[in-house]
Amino acid sequence: MYKGLVYGLLTVVTALTWGTAASVAQDAMPEHAIPVQSMAMVFLPAHLNPGLAVDLDNPASFLYPEWSNDYVHRFEEVELPDSVIISMKGYCMPTDSTRITDRYGYRPSRGRNHFGIDIKVNTGDTIRVAFDGKVRVSRYERRGYGHYLVIRHPNGLETVYGHLSKKLVVENQIVHAGDPIGLGGNTGRSTGSHLHFETRVLGNAINPAYMFDFPHQKAVTDYYVYGKNTREIYYTVKKGDTLSRIANRNETTIANICKLNGISRNAVIKVGQTLRVN
Ligand SMILES: [Zn+2]
Repeated sequence: MYKGLVYGLLTVVTALTWGTAASVAQDAMPEHAIPVQSMAMVFLPAHLNPGLAVDLDNPASFLYPEWSNDYVHRFEEVELPDSVIISMKGYCMPTDSTRITDRYGYRPSRGRNHFGIDIKVNTGDTIRVAFDGKVRVSRYERRGYGHYLVIRHPNGLETVYGHLSKKLVVENQIVHAGDPIGLGGNTGRSTGSHLHFETRVLGNAINPAYMFDFPHQKAVTDYYVYGKNTREIYYTVKKGDTLSRIANRNETTIANICKLNGISRNAVIKVGQTLRVN
């Protein structure tokens, strides 16, 4: 199942807190990257690895074990590389709306997590694909995403666009950054028209705000480094759990859990509730 996984052994993750976007040359390994002897496995996007051509028919096939038209799901069978360098090169903002109506993360009011961000759009507004890629899923989910699309990109990301009023692309279609892929809407579990936008690697959700700055309509960074150490970890509350017990179990602190979930130390936690613990 690891067939085709391509790893570079060239870059150390800690070197990738590069500061300003301007300091990173396009199309070249960042100067600040420190070659290491360690076995740290780093996934290099195709354009950073001259040996790899971008293949839109099989986007990020070196990271994903398969291509299917099944749902949004976690690829449990694939171990995450130590880090995945997500290049923002060639990105397009999915909507020109600058108004975020709901952030990523745990929503105490609803007792569940929100794996994307919501951006205000009107029904009929054009929604554009964020990068070149291939449409993996085009479905309708009455109680969830409504009309939605999942698109896989050569940089290793999958992006999800939910609550559309109309889809303009079909499964397995190749798309280019900025192509109109759907129209904004209010389908599925949604109150008021908006775009629900998710970014995932191997099915693991990442806060899109780490990569896309909707209020300023630009990318936050040239490269976002995602990996085992930056991965968001969630915990389902079990009977008898307290915040202190959960913190101990997950090698974190109560303060950190409160911060990550926007709750207070005195918050009532319920069995079955999901909390972000890292
Ligand atoms: Zn949403």
